[in-house]
Amino acid sequence: MQSLWNDDEARELAGDRLKLRVYTSRLLGRDPDLVLHGGGNTSVKITEPDFFGESQDVLYVKGSGWDLATIEASGFAPVKLAVLHRLAKFDALDDRTMMREMRAGLLNPAAPDPSVEAILHAVIPAKYVDHTHADAVVAITNSPEGEKHIRAIYGERVLIVPYVMPGFPLAKAIYERIRQSDLAKIEGIILLNHGIFTFGDDAHTSYERMIRLVTEAEQFLAKTAPPPRVPAPQPATRPGWEVKLAQLRQAVSHAAGKAMMARLDASPEHTQFAAIPEAAELATRGCLTPDHVIRTKRIAAIVQDDRIAAGVEQYAQDYRAYFARHTDVRLTMLDPAPRWALWQNTGTVSFGETLAAANITADIVDHTLRAIRLADSLGGWRPLPEADLFRMEYWELEQAKLKSAKMRPPFAGKIALVTGAHSGIGKACAELLQQQGAAVMALDINPAIITRREATLQGIFCDVTDSAALEDAVQETVRRFGGLDIIVGNAGIFPPSMRIEDMQSEQWDRSLAINLTSHQRLMQFSIPYLRHGIDPTFIVIGSKNVPAPGPGAAAYSAAKAALTQLARVAALELAGDGIRVNVIHPDAVFDTALWTPEVLEKRAKSYGLSVQEYKTKNLLHAEITSHDVAHMVCALAGPAFSRTTGAQIPLDGGNDRVI
Ligand code: ZN
Repeated sequence: MQSLWNDDEARELAGDRLKLRVYTSRLLGRDPDLVLHGGGNTSVKITEPDFFGESQDVLYVKGSGWDLATIEASGFAPVKLAVLHRLAKFDALDDRTMMREMRAGLLNPAAPDPSVEAILHAVIPAKYVDHTHADAVVAITNSPEGEKHIRAIYGERVLIVPYVMPGFPLAKAIYERIRQSDLAKIEGIILLNHGIFTFGDDAHTSYERMIRLVTEAEQFLAKTAPPPRVPAPQPATRPGWEVKLAQLRQAVSHAAGKAMMARLDASPEHTQFAAIPEAAELATRGCLTPDHVIRTKRIAAIVQDDRIAAGVEQYAQDYRAYFARHTDVRLTMLDPAPRWALWQNTGTVSFGETLAAANITADIVDHTLRAIRLADSLGGWRPLPEADLFRMEYWELEQAKLKSAKMRPPFAGKIALVTGAHSGIGKACAELLQQQGAAVMALDINPAIITRREATLQGIFCDVTDSAALEDAVQETVRRFGGLDIIVGNAGIFPPSMRIEDMQSEQWDRSLAINLTSHQRLMQFSIPYLRHGIDPTFIVIGSKNVPAPGPGAAAYSAAKAALTQLARVAALELAGDGIRVNVIHPDAVFDTALWTPEVLEKRAKSYGLSVQEYKTKNLLHAEITSHDVAHMVCALAGPAFSRTTGAQIPLDGGNDRVI
């Protein structure tokens, strides 16, 4: 493990203890082998005047909800050390009281909640205290002779503390141990099955001790552990696997009672692990470090190609039994869905209510697999027993971390695909679906679409008349997000005005290819995935021209009318699968690339109207915008229309030819 300490960077911060604390905290946070996603915590003890000018000894400790990789000075909660020392003297303290008294001891009431480990940090006398869940250390201690190995590696340079529930009990255990030890001879504390503490009177010493001790653990593993067995990798790219992934995500969403996104990891390490015969048994022993349990749950679901839904059901059943074994009357069971699955001979799949959550779980699973294989080579993977992990999973302070998450947006966990998404209606639909929580794949023939690279709005260049490209884009959506729930068939063109007798056949053919045939292909390619979607729906952007055609637009109107008929047949064919198909008929939407100011001017003139009159020539005198269509799309995709299929909805400000 490399030290990331840089003398030049540190020199600029010299003299400012808190800035140096921020600096080395971030160095720790940058290494995923040390901490992952909010794991670990750090502190510094500073003497400074309070508001009244009285000198105070203060512990600046990582605030709850902050990540070491990105923490700032304001992410540290300043708690009066005297308060923490007095709390440490209690024999027992319940979590709520501990948190309440720590908050009461804050120098700044606007600061975040202090880490639940604040008392532990306070009782270590050194100025700087660093705590991580280093993979190498945890992997060693999660093996049958973990303690013996730790002693062999570090000798008397570390205190070894058997697993104790984090929070007050752990702080108390450390407090007692420290009182009996000579800390001057000690560089760190190893918490079995949990992690490592180092400390020092300056930021550099504490940080470098962390790097050195963890490096020694890594060297021990490299020397002692035989290389893990490497079975032949299994191809995850066998035909049809995307449908199975969608099926798995659907089963997990059903078990969770809400839409979940899914990320498959089929990297060589994961496919190799998924291929070994004992993988299922290894993946169901427990998690790497206890605070992962709220992200990954205790164990994985085990699924196979021919046991996808059954594997998830089995997991849910086992989870209920696990809850029943350990619960007391106060607890409410969390949803019984897995947060990751071992897909035998394929890889691992991580699930989350959002893509970000699924990605966090995927990272943790990745580190867990490595630790499992290392510990297995040390004589066996032996994580904490079920009862300890249950206590952690249902610990109110951990649950609070999850509950502090923002309110769930309407399309959280949902996956959408929008065609013609670079501008106009398609862009508005893609962005509104994204804003409302969906992960969106945005297809367009404009290559600029690929610049859309947000986590939850990703652009793919696609000519929808190229069937192979379209099919691949549909599959790619499933590969990236795990399934497909909402499709907005929007791509279309408005050919130049042309009377039937003057029709150029290429204009006619092109209109049919884009406005009609591409939508049939899109349905064809997406139905196998929609069938495994969550409240799946196909929304077609039709046109006011369908119920109220105008002269000169035969190529457009005929194609849109046929598209509407296609959607009606689709509604009939797909109702049995629970897939809803509905059509929106917008009147001219002027905020699209089609309607340049010149075109508008010309059209308005031909009706003898001003541009404004032309834009609002409907019963409500309302201009129809892309945004209006996007709102209708979201309404159709949401619960208000969950019992509606085969409908055609006008979005035209009221048209007396239609009414
Ligand atoms: Zn910890």
